Amino acid sequence: MKKIFLHVLAVLFSVGMLAQEWHPSLTYIWEPVPPVVTPGSGTSPPSDAIILFDGSDLDQWVKPNGEPVGWKLEDGVMTVLKGTGAIHTKQAFGDIQLHLEWRAPSEIEGEGQGRGNSGVYLQGRYEIQILDCYENTTYVNGQTASVYKQHIPLANACRPPGEWQTYDIIFTAPRFKEDGSLFTPATVTVLHNGVLVQNHVKIQGNTEHIGLPAYKAHPLKQPLLLQDHSNPVSFRNIWVREL
Ligand code: MG
Repeated sequence: MKKIFLHVLAVLFSVGMLAQEWHPSLTYIWEPVPPVVTPGSGTSPPSDAIILFDGSDLDQWVKPNGEPVGWKLEDGVMTVLKGTGAIHTKQAFGDIQLHLEWRAPSEIEGEGQGRGNSGVYLQGRYEIQILDCYENTTYVNGQTASVYKQHIPLANACRPPGEWQTYDIIFTAPRFKEDGSLFTPATVTVLHNGVLVQNHVKIQGNTEHIGLPAYKAHPLKQPLLLQDHSNPVSFRNIWVREL
């Protein structure tokens, strides 16, 4: 009887200790305080975003050879001008949240990869495919919002050609060791028109058209590139937040 009493006492005591040990305040964290960011509304970006294109000029962009971009700027929209080549940001970025809006031409020309093709190349190397895949069949690892030839999107969230579409991209840059070998691969999450299409996938290296992907060491921050794939794809409202 005395044994049972002592046992019950011990249990009550330990429960009491536990309750005391796990007072809610013991797991409150007060610092560091996250910075205040005023969210955007409609098409306006959050307060801490770096504006890459707001429709007024192409000042944030340059051709890879350093020359001014040859794309068309009209009515607050920039459009690929066939043959003038890719454009990239003057600024280099590492880990980012990226928002951009794109539009495939309303007049349908071509098929498969030849229809409304462009691309956003994270760090100039890792392509998130831009393509008009609205009732347009192509290889699925190269369709809209694929990590080109690496990750098939989880859904085809394309709007009809001629309508504006959004990409919201969360990208973690790869890290390399001093000897140039890979330390951690890049990862990317993509929402296409608000639909999750890439869920924190590991990028396997440069997105190659021919052959297999492979990493080549590069500095942590690299410019963002938009592709000229000979189709008049348009862009507006491009902003980035450094993470
Ligand atoms: Mg492309």
